[in-house]
Amino acid sequence: MKHTLLTLVVALLLPTAMMAKKPKKITLSKDEFINELMSRMTLEEKIGQLNLLDAGQLNTGTGQKGVEDQSILNGEVGGFLSLMGADRIREVQQYAVEKSRLGIPLLFGLDVIHGYHTIFPIPLAMSCTWDLEKVQLAARTAAIEATADGIPWVYSPMVDISRDARWGRIAESAGEDPFLGSAMAKAMVMGYQGDKRHGGQYATDEVMACVKHFALYGASESGLDYNVTDMSRVRMYNDYLAPYRAAVEAGVGSVMSSFNTIDYEPATASCWLLTSLLREQWNFKGFVVTDYGSIGEMRAWGCGDLQSCSARALAAGTDFDMCSRGFVGTLKKSLEEGLVTEHQIDTACRRMLEAKWDLGLFEDPYRYCSMPAKKQKDVLYTDASRALARQIAAESFVLLKNDNQLLPLQKKGKIALVGPMAHAPKNMRGNWAPTANTNPNEFSTLLESMRRALGQQAEVVYAKGSNIHEDAQIEANWEVFGTDIRDPRSEAELLKEAIQTASDADVIIAAIGESQEMTGESSSRADLSLPETQQRLLKAMKATGKPVVVVYFTGRPVVMKWEKENIPAILNVWFGGSEGGDAICDVLFGDASPSGKLTTSFPQTTGQEPFYYNHMVTGRPTSKWFSKYSTNYTDIDGSAVFPFGYGLTYTTFQYGPLSLSSDKLRSGGKIEARVTVTNTGSRAGDEIVQMYIHDTAASIARPIKELKGFRRIHLEPGEQQTVTFEVDEELLKFYNADLRYVAEPGEFTLMVGPNSEDLQSKAFILE
Ligand code: BGC
Repeated sequence: MKHTLLTLVVALLLPTAMMAKKPKKITLSKDEFINELMSRMTLEEKIGQLNLLDAGQLNTGTGQKGVEDQSILNGEVGGFLSLMGADRIREVQQYAVEKSRLGIPLLFGLDVIHGYHTIFPIPLAMSCTWDLEKVQLAARTAAIEATADGIPWVYSPMVDISRDARWGRIAESAGEDPFLGSAMAKAMVMGYQGDKRHGGQYATDEVMACVKHFALYGASESGLDYNVTDMSRVRMYNDYLAPYRAAVEAGVGSVMSSFNTIDYEPATASCWLLTSLLREQWNFKGFVVTDYGSIGEMRAWGCGDLQSCSARALAAGTDFDMCSRGFVGTLKKSLEEGLVTEHQIDTACRRMLEAKWDLGLFEDPYRYCSMPAKKQKDVLYTDASRALARQIAAESFVLLKNDNQLLPLQKKGKIALVGPMAHAPKNMRGNWAPTANTNPNEFSTLLESMRRALGQQAEVVYAKGSNIHEDAQIEANWEVFGTDIRDPRSEAELLKEAIQTASDADVIIAAIGESQEMTGESSSRADLSLPETQQRLLKAMKATGKPVVVVYFTGRPVVMKWEKENIPAILNVWFGGSEGGDAICDVLFGDASPSGKLTTSFPQTTGQEPFYYNHMVTGRPTSKWFSKYSTNYTDIDGSAVFPFGYGLTYTTFQYGPLSLSSDKLRSGGKIEARVTVTNTGSRAGDEIVQMYIHDTAASIARPIKELKGFRRIHLEPGEQQTVTFEVDEELLKFYNADLRYVAEPGEFTLMVGPNSEDLQSKAFILE
């Protein structure tokens, strides 16, 4: 009786609440509201909530203004991805709310990967700041901008541990280290969502994050996108799972499953992954969305037809089907045939409704798409957010070489700027900033920024020097989203012009590297060296005898051996986002000092991949140069050209001796490692002090070293600071062969230094 009365009251209340343009207070609790709503939903409507479509699949009616989509009308859609612009989103939302039977609001998601309108550096670059506060602020800024323009749900952070530079999506990641990766994951989730560790509703300027790609996508075999991954559980737990877990512990609202297989089963259908691990072991309470079309792709993996793939995905713990139309098309039949249960459908539906509740969409479906255009101007791409993006970009650049302090350059004389990335408007922002695609020309190129930065103080002469790649057809194949226009002249003509342009310059800046589309999704490379035409350009610039500064644009570690041996100054700038051009000038001309450190190892040759500093020890450990029957190559020494953690600045830092408060750590106790760092140069600078640990007496093989702490410090000239790292048992834990998380007594080596190779070490014993 009570229930019937409640049902009646809500039934009367609901349509009004949803249709109203003004928010209405719902007096029921979350559970009461969802229970009641679900009690009135048909099976088809419940399944509809599990259907996520690409806005490109939206039927907008013929010859009519506005939306008129039968699936929305029928309650067969739970949300859309990639619909952009508050007005458009509002229009579609209004159609769902006013025209569908129950008026359930839609959920709108988008790939906001490194900023919304203000574009931050690509995630790999951001990780090189090792600056968690700024990374969190960048995510916060993206949340404020996205929610002001209609988007309450973003497909970020991407936290796949990436140890193979051939894989293009390394650009979207925080690199090769699980400790740093976990810290980045947490910072980003907190930035997007605020603190949701204990659940709760989102504020109007917070977005729900979606951690991806769960799991192990970064370990795609051969660095080939969409390929299988295969690894032991021990490696999974120790090296790959930590960042996803950190996101879950930070309260992430949703998880995206990955394209790859795990134990030969598509992740989309892995019950072990999506239910046992994620929900039962990690206590995840949000919803799981598939990656784009991945239920449909299970057919290609050989898992049967769309009906059986969809049933498997649901049973495994998938809630939201992105673009396969598998759930909406087959679950009803599967229920009739006993392949899935009503309980499974209800559970997934409830999770979707809970997410909509948490985002406040039932109280106000237009919550994120009501900001007047005038107000939007005060929120999107503001001076403050641009200043932040510029600062973060400058922090993300890694100074790899700087002989005789060639950098910073003085603002005088004649500067020749050459290279295909020097004046490349579409290439500045990085590979995944769909919201910037609308107007890429609003961001300055390096040439434009440089002319602005130097004004009348110095002359800048420019020549393209080469295209990105000598072969127009090859370039056209990968540049599907349209990067910069190729210069129709021959490579020889371009080179000749660059040599002439540079001939009477005081210094040459060569802006070279990858185009943005050489990284990101579906951009694996089998050869990580600079395309030949650019190599020719660089060699010609060196041959002029003038000082050459390389500004290297890239979304991955590349082979930079020749460059290291032959070019006096190299600044790796990744893709710096909307303010990248200005930030590069800030660093080149000394208005900012570089402080980034690599979060991914740069190999000598592609054949070393997968290549990462925290590899296992072997029974015949690697020696620096070839020795028969040890773990080494016959043709190169195994070292990195630039190792993990490496990066220079314009000043110098001296590390005092490393000391430990004790060489014995009692179970339950703590010891401290201390080192004093002094700025011995004449400029202020930031240093990232790193601590690594190696377990020398473990029950299983352990990595040669693992990052276990870092601190970013700022020192004025002559200033010194003592950096302290606390070490306790928890920090020494790992998953043993039985997958138990243990700290095993015995000897450990603790190492501290400016990068993963230049380290002082001290031993201690865990008792
Ligand atoms: C990518 C995801 C992305 C999704 C939606 C997929 O192809 O793997 O990272 O979030 O598309 O655009």
